[in-house]
Amino acid sequence: MPMNTPEHRAPDVDDWKWQMQNRLRTAEDFDHCFNLTDSERSALTDSERPFPVSITPYYAGLIDPQDADDPLRKTMIPRLDEFVAGEGEYDDPLAEDVNSPVPGLVHRYEDRVLFLMTDHCPVYCRYCTRSRLVGGNADFEMTKRRWQQSIEYIQAHTEIHDVLISGGDPLTFSDEKLEWLLSRLADIKHLDFIRIGTKVPVVMPQRITTKLCEMLKKYHPVFMSIHVIHPNEITDESSAAFKKLADAGIPLGSQTVLLKGVNDTSACILKLMRLLLKNRVRPYYLLQCDPIKGSAHFRTKVEKGIEIIKDLRGHLSGYGIPQFILDVPNGGGKIPLVPDYITGRENDYLKITNYKGETGYSYYDG
Ligand SMILES: *Cc1c(COP(=O)(O)O)cnc(C)c1O
Repeated sequence: MPMNTPEHRAPDVDDWKWQMQNRLRTAEDFDHCFNLTDSERSALTDSERPFPVSITPYYAGLIDPQDADDPLRKTMIPRLDEFVAGEGEYDDPLAEDVNSPVPGLVHRYEDRVLFLMTDHCPVYCRYCTRSRLVGGNADFEMTKRRWQQSIEYIQAHTEIHDVLISGGDPLTFSDEKLEWLLSRLADIKHLDFIRIGTKVPVVMPQRITTKLCEMLKKYHPVFMSIHVIHPNEITDESSAAFKKLADAGIPLGSQTVLLKGVNDTSACILKLMRLLLKNRVRPYYLLQCDPIKGSAHFRTKVEKGIEIIKDLRGHLSGYGIPQFILDVPNGGGKIPLVPDYITGRENDYLKITNYKGETGYSYYDG
């Protein structure tokens, strides 16, 4: 049984396959490692649970077993709140299913596609946008046939410039299976680059092996979008993973979901963005939490995200400031939300409020 204290760690803890095999998945596993609240225990034992629960032993070790308010804990251990469907929530908030020309491929923006490689993840974030899909157990031959259909679609659509491989988490596959897909995509002449969307570098950094990086390098340009939500995820282990990826020439970007009671303060986001820069990860998106069913307890007001971006400006290099994004329900797509600095116009002059909130500036714009 995995324990989240170092002295109980098995000798294979550095092996990602050990991490996968020893994930905490049942109420019993969690009871062993955490002082559970009633709400957590009820949610874990409910057989109607909408989607699976799982944490790697490594990630469990980043969570305070006694503190029910631990930020990472809230995102991983279910609570009864997730059974409550709130207003404006959907099973498929981004209408991805209707924008899929072939199963597992979302073609919403003309120039790029989202390739859902798998429905597997090492951990299941409780606010997951694709909770309707994840956790299945498809047979690999079937999966490969599905990939083949997507590859053919991309080959036939020369307007597509890039492929974002996501899921589920693509890095749950072996190097060989990943390479099967990457090598085929890299052969498509009209693609400019390939992106991998993953949370693995922070939830299972052991997966980022030298061998994996050597393989990825062969298919450049390969970018990586890393799902990171909190400074507690930046450890010696995840830093070593970022370093290996960056040294392999992979441009790294971050995607952070803004979550109530987890990371919804300017100080928390500022600290995270600084840590990311230090690790050669360029902050990319700060995302409003998608209105997936049962996620109301995670959602902040849209105004909060705008306020955080405003607070970052002037305290952090532009390299560290992500775009705040609202992905509009029903397939509206990603909309960047920015603070208003132009407050009006007086004849040929724009009235401007600066990053400190000081009014009275103007700019001739005739
Ligand atoms: C987010 C997303 C992408 C990638 O968008 P970028 O702005 O290029 O990061 C592509 N397709 C779909 C359907 C998406 O939701």
